[in-house]
Amino acid sequence: MVGSAIARRLAADGYSRLILRRRAELDLTRQAAVEEFFARERPEYVFLAAAKVGGILANSTRPAEFIADNLAIQSNVIDAAYRNGAKKLLFLGSSCIYPKFAPQPIHEESLLEGALEPTNQWYAIAKIAGLKMAQAYRAQYGFSTIALMPTNLYGPGDNFSLVDSHVLPALIRKCHEAKLANAPAVEVWGTGTPRREFLHVDDLADACAFLMREYSDEAPLNVGWGEDVSIAELAHLIAETVGFKGELRFDRSKPDGPPRKLLDTSRLTALGWQPKITLKSGLAATYEWFSAHQAHLRR
Ligand code: GDP
Repeated sequence: MVGSAIARRLAADGYSRLILRRRAELDLTRQAAVEEFFARERPEYVFLAAAKVGGILANSTRPAEFIADNLAIQSNVIDAAYRNGAKKLLFLGSSCIYPKFAPQPIHEESLLEGALEPTNQWYAIAKIAGLKMAQAYRAQYGFSTIALMPTNLYGPGDNFSLVDSHVLPALIRKCHEAKLANAPAVEVWGTGTPRREFLHVDDLADACAFLMREYSDEAPLNVGWGEDVSIAELAHLIAETVGFKGELRFDRSKPDGPPRKLLDTSRLTALGWQPKITLKSGLAATYEWFSAHQAHLRR
């Protein structure tokens, strides 16, 4: 989802020498394959968007994959980019790197100030290691790395699986299928009270392109929408967007995860960048994309 959005943004900005690989063509967890790719192509600017990602259930049931694959992908790519003369590398982390009870909105300085949310600690530890590795290559080798910590993302190309995905695509699919089946209710996990911030992936891609041009400092930058909604509010907004008129039933036996994850984006906005896509219009566009791509969805 993120890589495709960055490629669309760069192509729209007129960059034509994009070096792209699908996962089937280049497995970033394989060190030898990554070294061979970088030695042959020698990219100048590297956007490291690839990661193993998933929602609350996937993270707690497949911890080994979340820690091992992410550590491998980022170690292989950061090292190979540096050794093959890349001029700059942008590393994408996640808001999960911050402590579970970090003061809200979460400032970049909260990193490692408290215990992590247990459900996604494996993924978080890998992303913290990636951020530190980017900083270490800058400190020791003078490699120009920058790190961006996005909030929850959504948009075209998202994973609409009911078990692996994040809440927003899962609820789009559940409401869509319930509407088609004339089902009386849709199940929403947890209490509905946790609050989350959602950023459209095209806004993130715009921030990535902007920062690759304008920013070069070791301090990581949060990127988010700047406001959050409760899961219950999100579920109602999705039901309205999809046209599902039944009941939303909250299943309190499912985990809530952290109570709130709103990012403080003042460092980024002070550089002159702002997101543009509201949740309402982003949801409408994402539902349109979902409806048009039924045959090719990632599930
Ligand atoms: P998180 O932001 O890392 O906690 O990951 P998720 O996007 O998976 O979950 C966010 C919140 O949405 C949690 O409180 C979930 O319990 C809640 N939620 C409600 N319904 C769903 C659903 O169908 N799928 C997922 N993944 N989360 C849901």
